Amino acid sequence: MSAERTKLDEHGPVVVVGAGQAGALLSIYLARHGHDVKVYESRPDLRRVDIDAGRSINLALATRGIVPLIDVGVIDRVDAITIPMRGRMVHAIGEATPQLQRYGSKEHEVIHSVSRTDLNAILLDAAEATGRVTIEFDVALNKVDFDTSLLHLRDAGGDERTAPFGVVFGADGAGSRVRKAIAEAGSGSYETEWLDHDYKELTLAPADDGSHRLDPHALHIWPRGELMVIALANPEGDFTVTLFAPKKTFAALGSTEAINEFFAEQFADFAALVPDLAEQFMENPTGPLGTLRATGWSHQDRAVIVGDAAHAIVPFHGQGMNAAMESVRSLDRHLRDSPGDLATAFANYEAERKPNVDAIADMALGNYIEMRSGVIDEDYVARRAMALDLEQRHPGQLSPRYNMVMFSTMPYADAQQRAAAQAELIGRALSDPELDIDALIAELPDLPNLDPLADPKALSV
Ligand SMILES: Cc1cc2nc3c(=O)[nH]c(=O)nc-3n(C[C@H](O)[C@H](O)[C@H](O)COP(=O)(O)OP(=O)(O)OC[C@H]3O[C@@H](n4cnc5c(N)ncnc54)[C@H](O)[C@@H]3O)c2cc1C
Repeated sequence: MSAERTKLDEHGPVVVVGAGQAGALLSIYLARHGHDVKVYESRPDLRRVDIDAGRSINLALATRGIVPLIDVGVIDRVDAITIPMRGRMVHAIGEATPQLQRYGSKEHEVIHSVSRTDLNAILLDAAEATGRVTIEFDVALNKVDFDTSLLHLRDAGGDERTAPFGVVFGADGAGSRVRKAIAEAGSGSYETEWLDHDYKELTLAPADDGSHRLDPHALHIWPRGELMVIALANPEGDFTVTLFAPKKTFAALGSTEAINEFFAEQFADFAALVPDLAEQFMENPTGPLGTLRATGWSHQDRAVIVGDAAHAIVPFHGQGMNAAMESVRSLDRHLRDSPGDLATAFANYEAERKPNVDAIADMALGNYIEMRSGVIDEDYVARRAMALDLEQRHPGQLSPRYNMVMFSTMPYADAQQRAAAQAELIGRALSDPELDIDALIAELPDLPNLDPLADPKALSV
């Protein structure tokens, strides 16, 4: 790694657009390069204004997101607000007792429920604490003008102004204006594949004594074929619940009667816990789900995109934010590796990340099927049991796909390829009991380090 100072501010101010997880994290990394960083965020400061209208919305945090949080020194604060989940609690229809499917047998194989708002607040505090990051809230980017090196901004009151930039980092989410500017400058292109399913978030309130109504240390799933409900616990005793369903199902749920009937039929045990279900359903927004595939993530040495702006994915592997933060770390590494040449750093960053984010985009789509129907399918359960069993016997050769994605930092594309090879062998072994599966697994190349968190000190930048 070179000790040369990154030439980030060669052409003018260093700007990050968007202060979500990717933008806030990136501004901390950029401040470490020794430059002042200006951040524009279109929404109000979530540390001061309740932007989720009183609901607490949470995400699953896993190893790829934890590593950068260790890097930038906020992991202890984040640790204090997370709830570990050790497996999926499957609420099959008509079964009185839900079944826990553990994610793995190792202690570190847990994922963590974390409030989106609280995590963001920690990152924003840490960014400001660098003394180099200035964040302007309620200021939206409208347009990037590369010829004049001006950003066209609009504040919450509708007033427009311009601000100079040297290099602009687009961390402005799935609808990124920076991505649009890169495409308009002829350097990139993108498209979104929309799913035929939407989602809606609901809240399962705490019990009267403030405790959780379900086991907080599991990710609850009600798999129903085309439909699925999931629930993740919050430290306050409530759960954030998400219904995923075809658009036509949402369209049919236009009245209190229809909503109550639907939940009573499909999710009776869950519905019994939420007296104001229909009211919440009517009040809360319905969101679309899509996969954004972009190529050409940068324009010369002037602009680059990161996080959902470059690779928004469907949420079924719980990896969008984790991937976004892993991409931020990768971008930082490439900036340090090519300090005198931003265009090269940006190109190398995309070359490294693009095949991997394409892989997680595909695996996330595949995991929807697994979650909403696979987990109660006999073949899936047998395959999963065999994978976990083989992992015990060949820990350096086999790890289930879910575990490689969630608990390691091996490149997503490698995890995808490896999982396909393993699935093929397990499929053969299940249909042919005579097959010497142990001999075949032993021939697989060694897996990389599957527990990068075992020695967090080794991760520090
Ligand atoms: C239902 C659901 C569940 C999910 N669950 C998980 C999960 O369990 N685990 C996981 O890892 N991921 C999950 N994700 C994905 C995760 O939310 C995203 O991948 C992650 O938030 C991306 O972070 P980001 O910073 O790139 O983008 P965002 O969080 O979208 O942040 C972009 C920021 O830019 C701002 N902005 C936008 N446009 C402008 C503009 N023009 N000017 C200025 N500012 C602008 C926005 O206000 C926002 O603050 C889930 C997503 C959904 C929809």
